[in-house]
This record gives sequence, C-alpha cells and structure tokens, in this order.
Amino acid sequence: MDHFLYRNGTLHAEDVAIPDIAAAVGTPFYVYSTATLTRHYRLFTEALSPLPHLVCFAIKSLSNVAVLKTLGNLGAGMDVVSGGEYLRARAAGVPGDRIVFSGVGKTRDEMRLALTGGIRQFNVESEPEMRALSEVATSLGLTAPITIRVNPDVDARTHEKIATGRSENKFGIPIARASLVYAEAATLPGLQVIGIDVHIGSQLTELEPFEQAYLKVADLTRRLRAEGHTITRLDLGGGLGIPYRRSNDAPPLPTDYGALIKRTVGDLGCEIEIEPGRLISGNAGLLVSGVIYVKHGEGRDFLILDAAMNDLVRPSMYGAHHDIIPVAEPPVGAPRQEFDVVGQVCETGDTFARGRDLPLVAAGDLVAFRSAGAYGAVMASEYNTRPLIPEVLVQGDQFAVIRARPSFDEILNRDTIPAWL
Ligand SMILES: *Cc1c(COP(=O)(O)O)cnc(C)c1O
Repeated sequence: MDHFLYRNGTLHAEDVAIPDIAAAVGTPFYVYSTATLTRHYRLFTEALSPLPHLVCFAIKSLSNVAVLKTLGNLGAGMDVVSGGEYLRARAAGVPGDRIVFSGVGKTRDEMRLALTGGIRQFNVESEPEMRALSEVATSLGLTAPITIRVNPDVDARTHEKIATGRSENKFGIPIARASLVYAEAATLPGLQVIGIDVHIGSQLTELEPFEQAYLKVADLTRRLRAEGHTITRLDLGGGLGIPYRRSNDAPPLPTDYGALIKRTVGDLGCEIEIEPGRLISGNAGLLVSGVIYVKHGEGRDFLILDAAMNDLVRPSMYGAHHDIIPVAEPPVGAPRQEFDVVGQVCETGDTFARGRDLPLVAAGDLVAFRSAGAYGAVMASEYNTRPLIPEVLVQGDQFAVIRARPSFDEILNRDTIPAWL
C-alpha cells in the first residue's frame, strides 16, 4: 500500500497534488511519502514484536538524509555498506549503537571511521577482513563487536544480479567453514563475536528461500554455542520483494515474514536484526517525468520523456518493470495505445518500457513511475551531463525539496583544468 492516489482527477502524494510539486521544482523529480515510509517501517517492527529486535533500514536503497532522519526518528537502525553511508546515518542523527556495517570489502579507513564514531556491529564477510578489523581495533585500543556473514548456499530465485546467497556469489563465508572461522575469531584481539549474519538477495518474492536460510542459521547457532561461542544476535538481512506490477504481483507480507522468523529462529533467545531496504522505500517513491514528444515511428509510437536511464537505471540494468501512470487521471473508458517509453540518452538501452499499453498522453503531460523509491535516486548518474534530479519529501499537505537540482555551473566547476592547458 502507498499514499499516491488520484484525487479529483489528479495524482497526489499524500495531500499534495503532483503538478504543484512539478511547478515548484520542474521535471523530472523524485517524490517520497513520509506516511508510506512510516507505515512500512512499522509493519516490520509489528511483525517482529514481541521478539527483541532492531529494524535496520538498508541505506543503499534510498540514502537521502531527510529520509534517514524520518526513519531514525521512529527508532529505526541503519544498515550501511560504506563510510559515506555511515556518515549519512550519523548526519541524520542516528546513534552509532543503531548502525550496522555490512559490505564485502570494508577498508581500514572505513573501519576506523565507524570504530571511533561508534558502531553496533560489523558484519564481517571474510577472514582477511576479520584480521584487518582485529588489527585496526587493537591499534585504536577498541573492541569491535562482530557477526560473521555466512553464505547458506540457497537459491533466492531472484534476478541473478541481486542474488547473494549461493556459494558462487562473492558474499560471506561458506556456512560449512563457519566453525573454523568462528574459532579463529575467538582468538583475535580487538574482536568480540556476538552473532551470525545472513543476507541471501534482494526482491525475493517467496518466503521459502528465507526459510531454508534461517533454518541453517538456527542449526549453526546451536552448533557454535556448543563449540563455546556466545551467539546473542542474529542479523537476518533484507530482501523482501515488493509488487512492481500492481495488477498481478503478490509478494509475501511482512507479517508472514515475521511469523517465519519466529518459527525458525524465535526460540533461540537471540536479539533479531533485519535489514530491509526496498520494502520500506520502494513503494514510498515516484519518479515524475514530463512528456517531451510523442513520436510516431514505423509500426510503433514513442513517448519521449525528460527522465532517462541516468535518473532511473533499473529498467536498462535489470530489465525491471515499473508501472507508468499519467498524473492526470484518465476518464473511465479513455482511449489507450501501446507506446515504447524512452528517455533522451543516446543509447538504445535508454528504454523504460516497450509496447506498454497506456492511456493516451500528449506532449507536455506528466507521467509517474511507481515503485521508484528504492534503487532509484541512489543509482542515478549525470551521464550525458544531465543534472541529478531533485528529491522531494511530502508529509501530509507539506512538501520540501530534500536535494536540489545542481546548476550547470556547479557541475562544470567540479572539473578542473591541469596547469599545462
Ligand atoms: C542490499 C542489502 C540489503 C537490502 O536489500 P533489500 O532488497 O533492499 O531489502 C540488506 N542487507 C544487505 C547486506 C544488502 O546488501
């Protein structure tokens, strides 16, 4: 469920009409709903209660500091995968003891930053990384709380670029080696082993892969305890999918996911962490674009938009589907037509949809891409020297620009000319 609905024939974000935002900031832009972010975060905390737990928002899905502050104010923790994301979480006022540090290749600089700034735990992904963290923590006279990310070798049955839980993926240590690696961790100075971490992929549309992974984590918890380790925290990762097609997608609900967690690991007396990104941010955001031209081609018609692949890369990168709707509500029975929906970038890959059945729209109209909150703005680039587009946050009848569109001067001034030119 989200808070982007037609009212009196016009698409709204909560109580704000989308054309009012377009008039203020120009197109294209991203717009996020506070009510949707809040609702989705709460669905998870309710699903996990009464287990002791922390819902850590995966910053990489949507990293604007205003969004992080919205969630942080509700009590959310944050899952960061870089020093930059750690600084975003801190800038949003989230204390270090609610920040977990994930990622396959943390550098020593990133370790120092988080250790000195305060961190809830590092999710360690390899033995070399574990040894480096031990050295960095010892050199600072600090102790790093760690979990070790295990790779449970389960098939998440999602897009190959976002599946992370098979043995051939680069993530975590093979679960079969866990005993060895935990034994070494226990001998390393500056580390305190507190738990186990697992994350098997993103946009999972079934619960079964989670169930397989979490049952393996439960077994491992018992085994490691028998081997003398203290396991008090289980980080179960993110990855719950969202319905990208309103008409026929029905991924599992957070309540079912919570029930699964209770069933598989709920009796171990551990504190539970989860790291959802997409399910909190995905349907909390729209990409709004203007139609520049309607071009009649040979056997097909093109909608040429002012948004392009550099603004929303998911369709060209993952072949992803986004529902596209006109901002002006089409009357019942309005004529429809198939369009190829494309951007202005000089690549054929800059195609959002082919043969998409849409209500008739014309040059100058506004259209909105649904489910664009996650992995949208964060993956944008300035390819073709197209400025990063604004981000807008709505709350009730208010809206605010939370990242402004840079001017061309700002963009050009980032380049510097060497002395010999
Ligand atoms: C990407 C990622 C997440 C979030 O995944 P979603 O599919 O957005 O929920 C959580 N944890 C880790 C370690 C990740 O890499």
